[in-house]
Amino acid sequence: MAMVIERGQIVVSSGIIDDGVCAWEGDEIIFVGEVEHFKALVAKGSVTCEENRTVAAVYRRNNKEKTSAGGATVPDNVTLPAPTRNIIMPGLVDEHVHGGGGVSFPDATTLGDIERGAHEHFRNGTTSIGAAMTTMSVRRMEITAGLLADAADKGVISQIMIEGPFLSHQRAGAQNPAHIIEPSVQVADRIINATRGYAYGMAFAPEIEGADAVVSHIIGRGLIPTWGHTHCMAQDAHGLNDYAVGLLRERGSARVPVVNHLFNAMRELRHRSPGPIGEFLAAAARDEAMVEFIADGKHVSMGLVRNIIDILGPDRVCLISDAIAAAGMPDGTYELGGLQTNVVEGIARLRGGNLAGGTWFLLDIVRALYESGVRLVDCVQMATMNPARVMGLENVGELAVGKRADVLVCGSEGLDLLKVYRAGREVPR
Ligand SMILES: [Zn+2]
Repeated sequence: MAMVIERGQIVVSSGIIDDGVCAWEGDEIIFVGEVEHFKALVAKGSVTCEENRTVAAVYRRNNKEKTSAGGATVPDNVTLPAPTRNIIMPGLVDEHVHGGGGVSFPDATTLGDIERGAHEHFRNGTTSIGAAMTTMSVRRMEITAGLLADAADKGVISQIMIEGPFLSHQRAGAQNPAHIIEPSVQVADRIINATRGYAYGMAFAPEIEGADAVVSHIIGRGLIPTWGHTHCMAQDAHGLNDYAVGLLRERGSARVPVVNHLFNAMRELRHRSPGPIGEFLAAAARDEAMVEFIADGKHVSMGLVRNIIDILGPDRVCLISDAIAAAGMPDGTYELGGLQTNVVEGIARLRGGNLAGGTWFLLDIVRALYESGVRLVDCVQMATMNPARVMGLENVGELAVGKRADVLVCGSEGLDLLKVYRAGREVPR
């Protein structure tokens, strides 16, 4: 099996390796580290390694030595690339994606549609997708869930997020108000069953009567609740998050509830009537919630996102695209959960003016946040490791030995995307 080697500035969880190597065989990473270390391993095979020279059979798997190279074989005719300043980071993990490339996941009718939408994200640097549903009729949500589960069976998407239908009419945002209903265990079960084990979370407005019983039920089924599209007061947010965290801990789970796109589609923070935002932030600070941001400068100010990252640190924040069909497409009209969205200058709105999801890819968001002054390592963590943890994905989210070889190669100026590898193979772009 051919080994692939990329060389440059490698973004790992502990920092950036200045002249590093990331190497993989098949779909599995077998080495991440400094180039000198890589060469030392090469030397162990009694062959010296010169840059730009072909390396002969070097480090043989059958010598059974355990090192950070995982005992890998460097086969004949592998060339160590010349030094570059390229930035090499893990493939991005987006836990909240409604579509892209003209395809809306909630409205899709074939597996081919889902594959096309997913591919648009792959070739733009997102290699793991949490496909997000929206509020539609329960029957239609079952159909969407089934299609997404088919796509997950094929490894196209990783997980499913059920956004709706137990939300607030006042904060519907781009959720179809005609299909927002009261919490029901039976309805939750119908949708979750249709996801065939791939759903990681289900959204609730905490103030809705009966939410607690359904939250308890879905946690019992292994999902986490997410809080969003809510008009709740502080005490509802606090009460239900506490309740959910207690149930998760009883189950021995280390997972925590997620706050969907903090600040968007929720009651605003006012100092005499604070709504849920202060409670959500406090819960995150106690490690009892994870907050999402659509950090595109349109849904929320970049300065505010930076402030919150400064306050919480990068461990409790997930960057999401909330991308809709319009991502990667020109301005125009696109469908989202049976509603029409108009995209003008890259901003998607419903006819009434509500923002209707994102049009950027997650890498655009990483780039914008990095340019606004957040450390690259932190930007990458919030777009890889954190959402991987939220979705319970253990084999992606960082460049480390044994992980799936999802690797982005970017130029050092402006993080322009040069190459995407997903499961070890270069994604056609
Ligand atoms: Zn969404």
